[in-house]
Amino acid sequence: MTEPQILDKTVIQNGYCIGCGACAAKKDSPFKMKMDKYGNIVAEASSDLSLSSVDVLNICPFSGKSKNETELADIVFSDIEKVDDRIGKYEKTFAGYVKEKEFRKKGSSGGIAKWIGYQLLKNNEVDYFVQLIPNQSNDSSAPLFDYGYFSDPEEVLNGSKSSYYPVTLENVIKKINKTDARFAITGVPCFIKTLRLLSLEDIVLRERIKYTIGIVCGGMKSANQSKMIGWELGVEPENLINIDFRRKYKDRPASQKIYQVWSNKDSIERYKNANEIYGTDYGSGFFKPKACDFCDDVVGELADISIGDAWLRDFRDDPNGTSLAIVRNKNILEILKQASEKNKVKLTEITAEETGKSQLGGFRHRREGLSLRLSHKEKNKQWYPKKRVVPGEFNLSEKRKKIYNLREDIAIKSHKEFYNALKKNNLNIFKEEMAPLVNKYIAANKPSLSLRLKRKFLRYIQKMKK
Ligand SMILES: Cc1cc2nc3c(=O)[nH]c(=O)nc-3n(C[C@H](O)[C@H](O)[C@H](O)COP(=O)(O)OP(=O)(O)OC[C@H]3O[C@@H](n4cnc5c(N)ncnc54)[C@H](O)[C@@H]3O)c2cc1C
Ligand code: SF4
Ligand code: SF4
Repeated sequence: MTEPQILDKTVIQNGYCIGCGACAAKKDSPFKMKMDKYGNIVAEASSDLSLSSVDVLNICPFSGKSKNETELADIVFSDIEKVDDRIGKYEKTFAGYVKEKEFRKKGSSGGIAKWIGYQLLKNNEVDYFVQLIPNQSNDSSAPLFDYGYFSDPEEVLNGSKSSYYPVTLENVIKKINKTDARFAITGVPCFIKTLRLLSLEDIVLRERIKYTIGIVCGGMKSANQSKMIGWELGVEPENLINIDFRRKYKDRPASQKIYQVWSNKDSIERYKNANEIYGTDYGSGFFKPKACDFCDDVVGELADISIGDAWLRDFRDDPNGTSLAIVRNKNILEILKQASEKNKVKLTEITAEETGKSQLGGFRHRREGLSLRLSHKEKNKQWYPKKRVVPGEFNLSEKRKKIYNLREDIAIKSHKEFYNALKKNNLNIFKEEMAPLVNKYIAANKPSLSLRLKRKFLRYIQKMKK
């Protein structure tokens, strides 16, 4: 079989394609990218795969033949000595936010991700900062987010906040190949891995991609999730033109996600707390691509700087938001240090241990949960992408197993049932079909009676102390 045939038979047909676009961006590629009916971006054959001699297995982050994150980090960050079980190699780790301009106000958390792009452009370290931009048009058939190119630092704030929405690097890779310039690029961990894999074999990309800004990732969502949120807030799926997943409020902790949607039919302000919108419990698996359940890089171990939310006790209740930053690049560290001295950013150094702790839920799902999912694949003799996690390496309670299994079931079923609801133009069908699994998931997560009693007792003690 040719490499494209193997990629198709393993990654694509088994649903592990995350849509990075590396295979489609290759010269003479027999693949093209498309958004499927479930709202996920995936690769598909565009010509006879048996006639293609393009090498694709070494550059696909899910082929199982490409280098894994640890092997790549040893190459890319060979001079970094500090390494942590969860966050990989690192120079320093911080919680912080930007004090200048409107970066924090317009950021998802502390505004550090966009500010890094702004600063790299200002310092003339790069010619383009490549980040996502929200749909600018009134056309609801256009994608709600796509990669865009910023050369003016003062424009950087027009980039998106956190986009739980599929995009692809296909055109970004092609543009970098065509343009003799220096680039900094934002991406979820698997996309940064793709860029590192491509850069290993392509010196042009290696030289032009100067900085990578990784977005800590607890899992992507399909484009249909945005449609569902819009629907819930009163915007018909065919009228949705924009979504903000991280609207901020002065009097609500940053950890409370607030979604806002826009319709091309009116200018009504529509927003709600995520916990008041059906199907938005992030951890439950709704609308999650299959690849995300088979991914073991939570923080973006290959990025020059990884940015997430500082979900730690000292920071999570601040309504303005605080970023988590894992720095691996010495230039970026210096930029942050100088900005901190000039009072342009506020940084609190935290330990690698605390950094990992801020993402505990994500790590549990992608370590012990992944190990369980892999053991199922092994047992059923199904192909799966090789991971750093070993199938069945954790001893899990029946309760945890049930939770992980239900999350996977919810993800799979939500794609199909929402597509059905769209066809029948009835959101209630979706909720009715999902109800049995959702009820089981709620029951599985309920703390045991003894734990509930213990918590009640501790609350009582706390109250007495005051
Ligand atoms: C799918 C997804 C899952 C996430 N899961 C977690 C998590 O589990 N834990 C956690 O701590 N943080 C998570 N985050 C990251 C977090 O939501 C914030 O993006 C991060 O804290 C950066 O905030 P900021 O204020 O510093 O950045 P901002 O100043 O808001 O800048 C964000 C930058 O990231 C770019 N960007 C946003 N989304 C994407 C995307 N999908 N692909 C490429 N570039 C993008 C924007 O264009 C912008 O340049 C997730 C983000 C996404 C998109
Ligand atoms: S994950 Fe990327 S490289 Fe792999 S098949 Fe999908 S688009 Fe191609
Ligand atoms: S969870 Fe992993 S595979 Fe999914 S988008 Fe995030 S980094 Fe990519």
